[in-house]
Amino acid sequence: MPEQESERESGKVTERNSGAGGAHVSDRAMPQLDALYREVVLDHYKRPRGRKKIEHPNLCTSGFNPTCGDQVMLSLEVESDRISGLEVQCQGCSISVASSSMMAELLAGKSKEEAQRLFDTFRCMMHGQDPDPEVDLGDLEALSGVAQFPVRIKCALLAWTTMAEALRKLDAPGLKEGPHTDDV
Ligand code: ZN
Repeated sequence: MPEQESERESGKVTERNSGAGGAHVSDRAMPQLDALYREVVLDHYKRPRGRKKIEHPNLCTSGFNPTCGDQVMLSLEVESDRISGLEVQCQGCSISVASSSMMAELLAGKSKEEAQRLFDTFRCMMHGQDPDPEVDLGDLEALSGVAQFPVRIKCALLAWTTMAEALRKLDAPGLKEGPHTDDV
């Protein structure tokens, strides 16, 4: 039922960005996304998945996006290389909350490798590169339009970069920083 209201609310802000690189968009504002996509994003924003508390996490970590003020907290339970539990608490703009909710949904039960692949693919999409066609991004597709808003890309990637870092830490509690970030 709140659909109409939110439509109107986000419709207001969509007009003004006409492609001038760093156009200012306020915190709660949503970039100009396709109407269908916008609904998917709003649904995740209003009912974020993955909030259920995890009893025995292997790792807890957090991430912060100073550009927008988004914060994410992750609790991760990994069992024989598989993400058996994932708790995601995100506070911030619609894009960051929606993206972290989608992540919670997508990564539950995935292997670490699959998780990394999803992240790589999503990151490609955010940077306007061709994503791996074999990877099903699910609801994340709805965020494809964010790629046109450089300021918001960090919002979309926050939970994911935090997650990727967590997985790396689990793999090598010491140090293992693969300069893997930009293989373009
Ligand atoms: Zn944000």
